[in-house]
Amino acid sequence: MTENRSSDQVRENLKRIRFEIEETCSACGRDPNDVTLMAVTKTVSPELVNVALSEGVRLLGENRAQELVSKYEFYHTDFKQIHFIGHLQTNKVKQIIDKVSMIESVDSEHLAAEINRCAGLSGKTMEILLEVNLGGEQSKSGVAKEDLFELAEKVSRYPNLILRGLMVIPPVGEGARYFEQAQKLLIDMQAKKLDNRNVNILSMGMSADYIDAIRFGGTIIRVGRGLFGERN
Ligand SMILES: *Cc1c(COP(=O)(O)O)cnc(C)c1O
Repeated sequence: MTENRSSDQVRENLKRIRFEIEETCSACGRDPNDVTLMAVTKTVSPELVNVALSEGVRLLGENRAQELVSKYEFYHTDFKQIHFIGHLQTNKVKQIIDKVSMIESVDSEHLAAEINRCAGLSGKTMEILLEVNLGGEQSKSGVAKEDLFELAEKVSRYPNLILRGLMVIPPVGEGARYFEQAQKLLIDMQAKKLDNRNVNILSMGMSADYIDAIRFGGTIIRVGRGLFGERN
């Protein structure tokens, strides 16, 4: 990681991250194609995001509705795979519903209901993940582990939502043991056979801990600083 953000730095970081994904997967017997690198774009200029896209990154992660709306038209448009990963207020759902293919940060039925409603108005279905607050941290959003399955059952009744899995942000520095918990929770959720198709996505791991996340079955790693450099 460096302070300066430059195209060359992004290319170099990308090479390193891809190498680490390969290495980690081969060490734990996973197929590297089952791990998707998400470029987390908060505070990053569209120009630099486009460098990552032109180097083959196929998934962007957006935290803020406002920032997504203002940067959206500047992104290379030959593909559009954007996941919303930040805390989402219900009154912002309609701004992003046509711009993202998945909302990873669903943590209440209230929010799920609004996504379902807006998706319906747009004539589409929306894939979602449930964000779980595994560390029980007050400062973080996410549904409590104890309430997860009840929420999963509720959201899977909404006709315009497709529940695909879980998103977790573990307490700083304690990734590994929470990633293991998340992996178990996903398996338990699959066993519930809710009215949905493929519950197989585990979005976990950021710049500081994506290697551990891959070891415990993460399928989307969300990397910001490690790819684009430190945020100001
Ligand atoms: C910022 C952010 C990331 C990326 O964090 P880095 O430390 O920059 O890699 C991943 N997930 C979420 C939800 C974020 O807000």
